[in-house]
Amino acid sequence: MSHFDDALRYFTDAARLMDVSKNIEKLLVTPQRSLKVEVAIERDNGSIDVFPGYRIQHNGARGPYKGGIRYHPEANEDEVNALASLMTWKTAVVGIPFGGAKGGIGVDPRTLSESELQRLTRKFVDQIQMVIGPNLDIPAPDVNTNSQTMAWIVDQYAKYRGYEPGVVTGKPVELYGSKGRTEATGRGVALTTKWALEDMGRSVKGARVAVQGFGNVGSWAAKILESWGAKLVAVGDHAAYLENKEGFDTKLLSEHVAKSPERSVKGFPGADASTMEALFAADVDVLIPAALGGVITADIAKTIRAKVIAEGANGPTLPDAHKILVDKGVVIIPDILANAGGVTVSYFEWVQNTQRFYWEEDEVNLKLELRMRSAYDNVNRIAKGKKIDLRTAAFVEAIKEVGKATALRGI
Ligand code: NAD
Repeated sequence: MSHFDDALRYFTDAARLMDVSKNIEKLLVTPQRSLKVEVAIERDNGSIDVFPGYRIQHNGARGPYKGGIRYHPEANEDEVNALASLMTWKTAVVGIPFGGAKGGIGVDPRTLSESELQRLTRKFVDQIQMVIGPNLDIPAPDVNTNSQTMAWIVDQYAKYRGYEPGVVTGKPVELYGSKGRTEATGRGVALTTKWALEDMGRSVKGARVAVQGFGNVGSWAAKILESWGAKLVAVGDHAAYLENKEGFDTKLLSEHVAKSPERSVKGFPGADASTMEALFAADVDVLIPAALGGVITADIAKTIRAKVIAEGANGPTLPDAHKILVDKGVVIIPDILANAGGVTVSYFEWVQNTQRFYWEEDEVNLKLELRMRSAYDNVNRIAKGKKIDLRTAAFVEAIKEVGKATALRGI
């Protein structure tokens, strides 16, 4: 099954519970624009290499397209398409005035020098600048891209259309990024996890947590949960899996990753070596996949003992695994809700760029919490009312909103 077919299954399961016309359904599943480019760069040694790049705009009925850009060897049209559709549903679940898009380059950025990465990013902008813009399509960071990547995009875009910081979000604060954006996705994951535990009559204090992926999302979710009294007991990334029954010091672990040449938890002192299978099967309260998509397969799902799964990553749970977990009574906070804190603060960043008026971090965090709470309550209410799981409920809400906007705008 393709990534897009997996995303479609969640859509179809929810649409079946609703009164969506066949015409609207057809419009909602079809991406509105797919741009494929070949990004050719000169390597530091003088040779030329070419990498495939994609920008896919799934649905813009509710506003300008919005979605990250990832650099990963496995980024391809199918994956970018699936991720673009998830953005359409995510922006609707948290009620922000954007549509959904995604971009990617099929490249392993670890094999490129800093100057090669900069040339790659600028060349990609040359090839997609005609379809992005503050009122058209607003990219942001995703896997292996960061605020520096966004700064290069702003600069290159300015050569075509003048200086417009609102063309991307997730910029450095010095270049009109929003305070609180870096940790926003992890903060949203932590908040929704806390609320889900509380709804089950449990407390975040003392909760044991396992996290796959200790990059931006995983590390901030773990740090914030730890600050509320939870314990990170298992962690893993592309290079190593570790466990520590007493709980990791997440701040020290972050510092270790930042200093490590592989940007990995590997070699962190005082922990026991582990495996991916052991992390997913760990005896924990909360499991946070915060790396790549498709990691929770049906076989992995059978071994999961966590009570709550908060999807920091996009698309970490395959549809067959989702069903197994729901049948086991595991509460899954779906990606389109759990990790929507990032795009929410991206929206705040875009608002601040548009107004040229900047907010303090406390104000950003408060507005984020209010918006996540209202989205979480809304999805929970639909789930309870229709006796369905949170993912299906989130899709019901999103399809309702995007469907209405699509029908109102017409073809
Ligand atoms: P990142 O590049 O900062 O971190 C990625 C992490 O995943 C790293 O720890 C890396 O080692 C790990 N990883 C990579 N390949 C792996 C593998 N094969 N096995 C195990 N671990 C692996 O990326 P991020 O921004 O933290 O994004 C992580 C996930 O969260 C992605 O699915 C992304 O789409 C999603 N997401 C990110 C944001 C955001 O604001 N950054 C927002 C919403 C969703």
